[in-house]
Amino acid sequence: MPILIKANLTCNFKCDYCYQHPIRQEEMEYDLAAVEATVREQYAEQLKSMEKYNEKLKKEGKPPNRPTVTLHGGEPLVLPIEDIEHFLKLGYELSGKSGIQTNGYNITVDILKMFVKYKTGVGFSIDGPFPLNELRGSGSKANRKKQTRRVLKNLERVLNTEVPTKDPDKKKYLKASVICVLHKKNALGDRREILKHWIKELADKGVQGRINPCCTGNPEIDLTPEEATEAYLDLYNFMSEEGIPYWSPFKDIINNFKGERQVVCVFRTCDPFCTSSATSVLRDGSLGVCLRLYGDGKEYLRLDKSTNMRNNVLRQTDCKDCEWWTYCYGGCTGLSIDWDWRNKDRYCEMYRVLYERIRNNLKMHGIKLAPKRPEKTSKEPDRRTGERSGGDHWDGIIHVDGPNEHHDSNVGVERK
Ligand code: SF4
Ligand code: SF4
Repeated sequence: MPILIKANLTCNFKCDYCYQHPIRQEEMEYDLAAVEATVREQYAEQLKSMEKYNEKLKKEGKPPNRPTVTLHGGEPLVLPIEDIEHFLKLGYELSGKSGIQTNGYNITVDILKMFVKYKTGVGFSIDGPFPLNELRGSGSKANRKKQTRRVLKNLERVLNTEVPTKDPDKKKYLKASVICVLHKKNALGDRREILKHWIKELADKGVQGRINPCCTGNPEIDLTPEEATEAYLDLYNFMSEEGIPYWSPFKDIINNFKGERQVVCVFRTCDPFCTSSATSVLRDGSLGVCLRLYGDGKEYLRLDKSTNMRNNVLRQTDCKDCEWWTYCYGGCTGLSIDWDWRNKDRYCEMYRVLYERIRNNLKMHGIKLAPKRPEKTSKEPDRRTGERSGGDHWDGIIHVDGPNEHHDSNVGVERK
């Protein structure tokens, strides 16, 4: 389970669609000691809650699961360099590795050294080469073009940074991944072809990622549900044809059908009052819910335990007779229609189509599907984890792919 350090929400970019604008602080102020104390406390608590599952893994001869600590923002690389090091070191000391989600602009030689030292998995937020990335960055189009070039260059630098290995004949590099937000500027017409080409290039370098639908409420930016359905389906088909290891959410849907644990939070009964998969440690050390739910400019602290309330509401509404309910659970709370958590995800139609297509493909290839999950009520424990609600959440930030652990459905680059 990931612990996300969100001590600083300031950013050097002003991306047009960022969901954090309403809560962005002007000043970079945080209580480092309080943040650290909460991270340590949460780590210990989460590790304890994993005991049962880790025992099971041990019996199966598998390595134990551990919580992960990821430095988020705002933009984490605008922090003073000693604080960046402090947080990466903290993650490393606790879990043996660390993570960061960054816009990638401020990566320097010193930062790269830290990434090596603290075994940092580097998640880049970028929507493709320019002009696909035009909604990200700050200033004029020309500036954003330059910024995009620099970010892509930094991605290359990360991928080409060697890390020490026990076997001198086997080279290893830093791990990188991509979160790509899909919107009208990169998912339609010819631009989608450029996007596909870029995804292929990344795949050839061993990079994977996650495709998130943009959700600003601005029809000039967001895809319509129809456009999103068409674009996601096309990208899924493209990855199938090219043999590209699936990005999230395709990978999560496949894992869901196979009954595996690594399924993104979007499909895991997210409770808006707890968001078990997004343990956000805020600037004063308090725990907030997933920041996607701060759209009205207020900061919401989280409850200790998941209530299963959204699940209980949704199963009485549109989702009631849906074939995919026990896989999808109504999708992302932060993307609920009208931003009302009592509604299902606004991209429901896209998920329906993807679930059907992917299920049929798996069947066609003779892949055994796990038995359909039983309907889960607040009294029924999670089939896989034994927990009463929430379960082993996967927030889309840290994913595991076979032996590789990676950020937000990225795959750690285990290049030979
Ligand atoms: S696909 Fe749509 S209707 Fe079905 S469970 Fe998901 S959100 Fe609800
Ligand atoms: S489902 Fe959506 S709101 Fe819930 S934790 Fe995941 S991203 Fe956040």
